[in-house]
Amino acid sequence: MTGQTPRLEIRNLTRRFEGRAVVDHVSLSILPGQVTCLLGPSGCGKSTTLRMIAGVENQDAGEILVDGAVICDSHTHVPAEHRRIGLMFQDFALFPHLSVADNVAFGLTGPAAERRARVETMLDRVNLRRFIDAWPHELSGGEQQRVALARALAPGPRIMLMDEPFSGLDNRLRDEIRDTTLAVLKDSGTAVLLVTHEPDEAMRMADDIALMRDGKIVQQGAPYNIYNAPVDREAVAFFSDVN
Ligand code: ADP
Ligand code: MG
Repeated sequence: MTGQTPRLEIRNLTRRFEGRAVVDHVSLSILPGQVTCLLGPSGCGKSTTLRMIAGVENQDAGEILVDGAVICDSHTHVPAEHRRIGLMFQDFALFPHLSVADNVAFGLTGPAAERRARVETMLDRVNLRRFIDAWPHELSGGEQQRVALARALAPGPRIMLMDEPFSGLDNRLRDEIRDTTLAVLKDSGTAVLLVTHEPDEAMRMADDIALMRDGKIVQQGAPYNIYNAPVDREAVAFFSDVN
């Protein structure tokens, strides 16, 4: 152990729907600049876990800590907008009626000049500064995705939750946006919890993999450890697709 305080830690996070625990005592921790991939079949509770961390879904039990401070437990509930946690979904479209600059500035507060400077910095990071005054429809799909990434990161989230964010893209675009995402996130020390159903994506992006089944984490560790000793048949099948 390094002794470093995790950027994100969840302890025994639990959510019940109609008496059934769809997220059942899930515990995880992620260090700054690290990526944990959450893998598991449809319906096992991945999105609900992310939504509780983001603060857009209530938890029934458990604790969420950011940089060692409790943001949610039975006594505390920091609202979503004060958590500095970014959430990125598969269909995170840009606002079509706003310019690229205004899209990236959307979540920002403060004086106009500071917001503009932040927008320029973020667009530099995804190599799209030249499009600052363009409209979303003037950009390719991959460029739009990079602008959306810049927008998600502009407010400086401490944690980024990504729910199959690259699913809608073709392979070439996906590789490109994955690499950009990883570079930008690592650079900013943001902790990432990434849900994916792509074995290659998990092997390539993760520092840590957590396998989820039926609301529970059943195995967690470095990608190659999990790849070499998968816990169940489902995991064996999943990793057999890695090339
Ligand atoms: P995943 O993202 O892994 O596919 P989800 O977290 O979306 O899984 O859902 C986990 C389980 O919780 C599913 O069985 C789903 O039907 C159920 N569920 C999710 N949200 C609700 C809700 N608001 N009310 C009732 N059941 C829900
Ligand atoms: Mg889901």
